[in-house]
Amino acid sequence: MARSRSLIVAGAGIGGLSAAIALSRVGYRVIVLERAAKLEEIGAGIQLSPNATQALDALGALKALRPRAIEPRTLVVCDGARGEELARVDLMSAGKRFGAPFLLVVRADLQRALAAAAADSMDITIEQGTELVDFADHTRGITVSAKTAGESSEQFGAALIGADGLRSRVRAQLHGNSAPQFHRLVAWRALIPAKDLPALYSEPVVRLWLGAGAHVVHYPVANGEMVNLVAIFTDDWQGEDGSEADIKKIPHACDNWTETPQYLIAAAKKFRRFAQYDRPPLANWGNGRVTLLGDAAHPMLPFLAQGAASAIEDALSLARHLSGVEEVAPALRAYEHERAPRVRKMQETARATGRIYHLGGIPRLARNFFLRRIGGAGLIERQAWIYRHKEKAPESIAFGDR
Ligand SMILES: Cc1cc2nc3c(=O)[nH]c(=O)nc-3n(C[C@H](O)[C@H](O)[C@H](O)COP(=O)(O)OP(=O)(O)OC[C@H]3O[C@@H](n4cnc5c(N)ncnc54)[C@H](O)[C@@H]3O)c2cc1C
Repeated sequence: MARSRSLIVAGAGIGGLSAAIALSRVGYRVIVLERAAKLEEIGAGIQLSPNATQALDALGALKALRPRAIEPRTLVVCDGARGEELARVDLMSAGKRFGAPFLLVVRADLQRALAAAAADSMDITIEQGTELVDFADHTRGITVSAKTAGESSEQFGAALIGADGLRSRVRAQLHGNSAPQFHRLVAWRALIPAKDLPALYSEPVVRLWLGAGAHVVHYPVANGEMVNLVAIFTDDWQGEDGSEADIKKIPHACDNWTETPQYLIAAAKKFRRFAQYDRPPLANWGNGRVTLLGDAAHPMLPFLAQGAASAIEDALSLARHLSGVEEVAPALRAYEHERAPRVRKMQETARATGRIYHLGGIPRLARNFFLRRIGGAGLIERQAWIYRHKEKAPESIAFGDR
């Protein structure tokens, strides 16, 4: 295949794999460089909203994911300390309204479904254990220098897509090596076998508990075999992502909460910790034949559950802009221009939502009053701009394996 039809993607996370699939469907040969030797991930659940599931459908990855996914009936928002219900969202009706389901999945299942869809394409090569070290943008293409088990190699392509996550090497070379912004928030994540828990925790319900300096979310995943628990605390810990945490060190913000979240926290045998970061929006994502995608471009706090969703949307948008073009650089700028306002709004809304979730004192009472007033219907309305978005697939990608 001509070099002009070869693209290099750095990173085989949710964003990189989605991009590889979408780009292969519009006629590119894609080389994905992945630093990790194995596409394996520390178990953690994620929520996929209708904007994400319709995009996964377009990529042909939804069908494989469905048997392992849970379609939640309801989102129940409660005050953690009092146990009082503040709002109840009918997620089934919302899914119908937005034209695609809400789903609860284990992130590794999502990555596997995408990896399987990528493996179906003769035009995608995933080079695992290969780390992008740097790149050079020439008039006729991109040269990427990489390292595999200490051996250096070079790859050539028409463009480079940096989908290499929060601490993106591609972003650092484009924009300088700045540290991501820490928000004094730390997620404690656990997957607990459902058989070890009362039946309440396996109901297809997302329960969100709000409190001063902390919130807790839990829901069933993995075809009901596991319950995913995420507790996010205001805290200063900044260790290695996903490192195992000693339960004795869990912050005390939930200590006097109501029984349901307390029980689950006590039942988790193994927690992993993730300090929470984002970055301020970039004025320009890319340059020349290089662009960014997913967390590399617009990392966001997890309060809207849109990090993976926005990376999948990016992938479809990128493929649509690159479809059938002679010149890649203008197409990359058009992609960035289209995506930047939406993901910037997500980044900003995620920060604001985090502040609201963790309110204490009088502001907490005001928040609770407001949530009771707007109820589930009001809550979903406020986020409809996220969920109703249908990222347009390029013409050669067919929708509809749902
Ligand atoms: C607590 C928490 C809860 C979340 N919940 C949700 C949720 O419910 N819904 C949702 O949509 N999102 C959620 N997210 C966000 C979501 O997980 C991320 O936004 C998403 O995984 C980002 O995907 P990505 O492909 O851009 O980056 P990553 O998943 O970070 O992938 C980057 C890949 O690049 C590789 N890499 C890095 N550097 C190099 C290099 N130099 N060369 C080659 N490869 C490299 C890495 O090994 C990795 O595989 C959550 C995040 C957290 C922390």
